[in-house]
Amino acid sequence: MKGFVDKDTCIGCGLCAGVCPDIFEMDDNGKAVGSESEIEEKLMDDAKEAEAGCPVSAITLE
Ligand code: SF4
Repeated sequence: MKGFVDKDTCIGCGLCAGVCPDIFEMDDNGKAVGSESEIEEKLMDDAKEAEAGCPVSAITLE
């Protein structure tokens, strides 16, 4: 499973990168980007928290 960000929807609040920095980071345009790597089991709770916490539901885990 990986974390994907819809850049058109992302408002750059930074929540996901704060909650789950191993999977999400902010790019040079101030938008979040998901890691190319598979999400490790130990990071799944944080990844789900980021998905649930995104104020504009821009994150998909699949
Ligand atoms: S939590 Fe959502 S809106 Fe905020 S930076 Fe991450 S993807 Fe963008």
